[in-house]
Amino acid sequence: MTETSSQKPSLWRRYLGISLIWKLAVALVLGVVAGLIFGPDIAVIQPLGDIFLRLLTMLVMPLVLFTLMAGIASVSPKTIGRIGGKTVAFYLITTAFAMTVGIALALLISPGVGLDLPGGTEAEEREAPPLAEVLTNIVPDNIFGALSEGQVLSVMFFALVAGVALSFMVDSDDERLAGMGADLRRLVDSAVELVFILIRGVLQYSPIGVFALIAVVVGETGTDALLPLLALTGTVYGGILVQILVYVGILALFRASIGQFFREVREPMLTAFVTRSSGGTLPVSIQAAERLGVRKGVYSFTLPLGSNVNMDGTAIYVGAATVFVANVTGTDLSLTQIVTVAAVGVLASIGTAGVPGAGLIMLTMAVTAAGLPMAPVALVAGIDAILDMGRTMLNVTGDLTCTRVVAKTEPGMLAEPEAAADTARSDGADSPPQT
Ligand code: ASP
Repeated sequence: MTETSSQKPSLWRRYLGISLIWKLAVALVLGVVAGLIFGPDIAVIQPLGDIFLRLLTMLVMPLVLFTLMAGIASVSPKTIGRIGGKTVAFYLITTAFAMTVGIALALLISPGVGLDLPGGTEAEEREAPPLAEVLTNIVPDNIFGALSEGQVLSVMFFALVAGVALSFMVDSDDERLAGMGADLRRLVDSAVELVFILIRGVLQYSPIGVFALIAVVVGETGTDALLPLLALTGTVYGGILVQILVYVGILALFRASIGQFFREVREPMLTAFVTRSSGGTLPVSIQAAERLGVRKGVYSFTLPLGSNVNMDGTAIYVGAATVFVANVTGTDLSLTQIVTVAAVGVLASIGTAGVPGAGLIMLTMAVTAAGLPMAPVALVAGIDAILDMGRTMLNVTGDLTCTRVVAKTEPGMLAEPEAAADTARSDGADSPPQT
């Protein structure tokens, strides 16, 4: 290298020098402005957003497989059981609460009263898959099939059992087996580091992806579609705010620094907001968990599971939008209908992956189960992207809240916050891979 200190840093170097959150914030604002100026025509830049989504999605399967295997191999089976129990309980309780918030707020506001039904646009009816089927499908019949189809729960199942087998190998009395176990573990740990470096690279592209994705949503939805449904949008975002306050309360209860928590999770929150995919945001959430000082033994389990089954934002949306549908059709929901909607919402969130628009499918399931007409769902579908942004952001925040809480309650699973943030930073969590 012949670069001297008197030479100006290249444009690329200067770009790398700016903190990622600033670049994302600027991209977000510019995207909104571009969407408002160009309207639906801005859709030509959709490929730039798609590339970002594909880059993130490309990393999800290797990340789930390797981090979970490495994470499980680093803790005892007893610890895994305890972490699993706490996580599932946390997810179920918070989702049920979120569903209640969504329904209660909507019953209070009645966001659909006074709106007309759209003519002739019938949304398709759907039914929630039976619980037995959802559970059976978690066990993959072909791990390569599960990997190629992106089935997170099935891949998690495989990684979990493979991780347990790996820790048995490492602890084996048979020297040959123990040696092979140690080699394999180093290989898996190395693979995790490799994927982390790739994530940091992808994050440097994220401002362009954010700009494109937000511009297209704003351009295509436009203010015309938004205005008549402002009450529903307000109800859903109001519910999201209530739930964030609940997380703040829970975090305070577990002695987390609220400021530090939100400083570290704002990147995944923003990524979730624009990508509308908890699954796609997983690589960014994992980096945030590292910066929060959470050990792999916890986040490698809580985050992939959460991205698939924990959807508090979606629960608020399903609850509120079902009441909206009832309002539009002039129906008074009975208690049985409300309980049915809540049950279907929680069950459907387990069986539906965290991808853009998944909530709309769950809404059709809830509306079907409550025996309501499907036509008003078409109204909601018109602004689904705007609602999806907020609910996905909340879904991811919920996953990270659980991760932080579970780590706090497990001995040795949470590093000192300041030290952890420093380590992650000096590792380059906020900077690109060095060349
Ligand atoms: N997009 C959401 C997620 O990925 C799911 C939904 O549509 O509500 O978490």
